[in-house]
Amino acid sequence: MALCSLNYPSVSTILVTGGSGFIGSNFIRYWLGEHPADRVVNYDLLTYAANPANLADIAGCAAGGAAPPNRYTFVHGDIGDYDRVLATLREHQVDVVVNFAAESHNSRAVVHPEAFFQTNVVGTVQLMRAAMAAQVRRFHHVSTCEVYGDLPLDDSTRAFTEASPRVPKTPYNASKAAADLAVNAFHRTYGLPATTSSCANNYGPYQFPEKVIPHFAVSVLDGRPMTLYRSSRHRREWLHVDDHCRAIDSILDLGVVGETYNVGSGVEVDVEGIADGILDLLGLAPSFKTYVPDRPGHDRRYLLDSSKIRHELGWRPEIDFEEGFGQTVRWYRDHEAWWRPLLKRLEIDETNWGTVAAGAAKA
Ligand code: NAD
Repeated sequence: MALCSLNYPSVSTILVTGGSGFIGSNFIRYWLGEHPADRVVNYDLLTYAANPANLADIAGCAAGGAAPPNRYTFVHGDIGDYDRVLATLREHQVDVVVNFAAESHNSRAVVHPEAFFQTNVVGTVQLMRAAMAAQVRRFHHVSTCEVYGDLPLDDSTRAFTEASPRVPKTPYNASKAAADLAVNAFHRTYGLPATTSSCANNYGPYQFPEKVIPHFAVSVLDGRPMTLYRSSRHRREWLHVDDHCRAIDSILDLGVVGETYNVGSGVEVDVEGIADGILDLLGLAPSFKTYVPDRPGHDRRYLLDSSKIRHELGWRPEIDFEEGFGQTVRWYRDHEAWWRPLLKRLEIDETNWGTVAAGAAKA
């Protein structure tokens, strides 16, 4: 195990792809706080899902504020641009790459599947090629519980292990599963020192309001109804984003190269429960709930068996769901100036799947 450790004192520069998105920005904030000797390069294409405001305080410091100016750098680029990635890795003498960059919204993938395979698969391959050319010491790939397909809506404790087959059912999940296989192949074929984490649904601050918790919260805060899919008893396993960041830190420190680690909390809540919880926290009536047809391919349930990372690396979630969920909903209530400008970027009509999916099929 010790041979695989990154031996933190010598880590100096970490390149975070997709660092202007939800988890990536939380990870950068976490890393700069927990690793005061390190520098972070945020490499992001700034798609519709990115929000530079997520890191405005940190970017401000880097430009000459309280923090040492050279600890945070932003580079605008596509992970699929091999030359630009390689030049960035060399210029900043990057030791470690953590790949969050992705098209990440299942609903959008129904409409634009090609964008998902382009970024999540081809982009990841180009990023790995550049990482090998630059001889980085570790490449960590951020994947999802959704690569394993879905589970029936029963009370069984059956959960996906790292050895479960990857049988994704949606274009987003298929693109993430394909990327996982590519990472494994690059490790086995070329010796890329790669690790992968497959994580449950994250919640926390700075999540783009297309995803369910901020979507529901900002809808009602804006005086509009929440639109739940009719199958509102479909459920997800929820993990606070800070616990996800800690898990990646543990994997970089102690994880074994070539391995995948599931990262989950074991806490399952269905969509109806999320909606009711938000209304309760905001003191609003159940009449805000309305029901629309499910998106095509709507997965029923995911549950991860996370015993490997718990037993081998000593990680476990630290944030209680009730507490973290309450803090998160209150964060959206108190940060209207953060979410309001994002509303105009919401492009998927969740109420009209028949037409939208048919349009994608014809395109
Ligand atoms: P997000 O959509 O909020 O952020 C994605 C970021 O990637 C954005 O800043 C975007 O500009 C950037 N990006 C997109 N295409 C790019 C490209 N070609 N080159 C460079 N940057 C690009 O996503 P998120 O929710 O923060 O998820 C981050 C990662 O974690 C994804 O890989 C996702 O699959 C995975 N994940 C997410 C969850 C979750 O619950 N959100 C759970 C498990 C795994």
